[in-house]
Amino acid sequence: MEALLKAWDGERIIIEFDWPTGAWIIIAIHSTRRGPAGGGTRMKPYSTMEAAMADALELARSMSYKFACADMSRGGGKAVIAVPPDLTPQARADLLRRYGALIHQLGGMFQTGPDVGTSSADMDIIAESGAPYVFGRTVQAGGAGDSGPATAIGVLHGIGVVCQQLFGTSALAGRRILVQGAGSVGGRLIRLLREANASVLFSDVDEATIRQIREIPGVSFVPPEEVYDMPCDIFAPCALGGILNQETIPRLKCRAVAGSANNQLARPEDAELLRKRGILYAPDFVINVGGAMAIVGMETMGWSEAEANTHVTQNIEHMLRQTFDLAAARNISTADAARSVAETRLSGH
Ligand code: NAD
Repeated sequence: MEALLKAWDGERIIIEFDWPTGAWIIIAIHSTRRGPAGGGTRMKPYSTMEAAMADALELARSMSYKFACADMSRGGGKAVIAVPPDLTPQARADLLRRYGALIHQLGGMFQTGPDVGTSSADMDIIAESGAPYVFGRTVQAGGAGDSGPATAIGVLHGIGVVCQQLFGTSALAGRRILVQGAGSVGGRLIRLLREANASVLFSDVDEATIRQIREIPGVSFVPPEEVYDMPCDIFAPCALGGILNQETIPRLKCRAVAGSANNQLARPEDAELLRKRGILYAPDFVINVGGAMAIVGMETMGWSEAEANTHVTQNIEHMLRQTFDLAAARNISTADAARSVAETRLSGH
C-alpha cells in the first residue's frame, strides 16, 4: 500500500471507514489545478483495500487527463466505495447519505456523479446531504440523468475518426465492430452502430443483457472467452479496465481499439505493444469524456441535450485527430501523445 501511495502524483486522499456497514470510502483528488476535482463514485466489493485504493488513484488521474484533454476547467478525482457484497437496500441508502455528508464537508473540492455500481437514482440520495456537489441526478430531481447515452455518442464519433484514419472514410456501414460489455454505454453504442449499418458483434456476462441485445437485428453474440481472438475491424471495450495487457494484445485480430471503458491499458507500456502490432488505439480518456462533459455542461452551463451532444462530438473528434497527428509526428504511441497534451495543460503551460 505504501508503494502505491508514494507512486501516485495526486494532491490528496480522503479515507473514511463506515462503521455501520463496514464499507471503505476513498476519495482521491488528483488535481485541482484547472478547477474543482470531478469524478464518478464507483461502488462495488473489492478483494482487498489495496485493490480499491489502486482503482481510486488510477481513475482519479484519468479524470484529470479526461478534463484536460477536453479543455474543461475541472480537475480530476474519483470516489471508490468498497462495500461488503450483501448490503441491504436500506443500509446502502444510509451509506450513500453519510457519503453525501462527507462530500458536502469537502466544500466543493470534490464533485461527483454516477460510475460503475451507482446510478442517477443513487445521486438523488447522495445529493440529499451532498448538494450542490452532486451531478447526474435523475431528470425528475432536476439533474441531467444517465451519462451513458452521451458517452456512447462520443464513442460512436470517435470510432468515425478512427475509421477515417484507417480507411480514409468515417462511414461505418459494413465495418465489423465488436463491443465488449452491453450495459449503459455499450448497449446504446450497439444501437447507434446498427443505425449506421455497421456489422456488430457483442459480448457480455449478464444473461438478461445478452438476451435483450440479441433481439436487435443484425447483432451477433460472442462468448466472453472468445472476444480477444475474434477478427473485427474495431474492438470497442465497454466493460472493464485492464483488458489490454501482455496476454490479450498479442491475440487481438482488430485494426483498432476504441471504446468507453476506463483504464483499458493494464500498464502504460501496453500502448507501445499495441503500436508495435499496428493497432490504432483511441485513448480511453479522450474518447469516453462524453458523459462527463454533457452532464457538467447541462447542469452548469445550461446546455440543452442537443447542444451537449454537439459539444461532445466536436470535442472528441477534434482531440482524437490531434492525438493521432501528434503520435505520427513524434513517432510515439497515441496514449503517450494524449497524455503529453493533458500533462502540459495540467502543468499550466
Ligand atoms: P455498466 O455497468 O452499465 O455496463 C457494463 C457491462 O459490461 C454490463 O452489462 C456487464 O454485464 C458487462 N460485463 C462485465 N464484465 C464483462 C466481461 N468480462 N465481458 C463482457 N461484458 C462484461 O457500465 P457502463 O456505464 O456502460 O460503463 C462501461 C465502461 O465505460 C466502464 O468501464 C465505465 O467506467 C466506462 N465509462 C462509462 C461512462 C458512462 O457515462 N457510463 C463514462 C466514461 C467511462
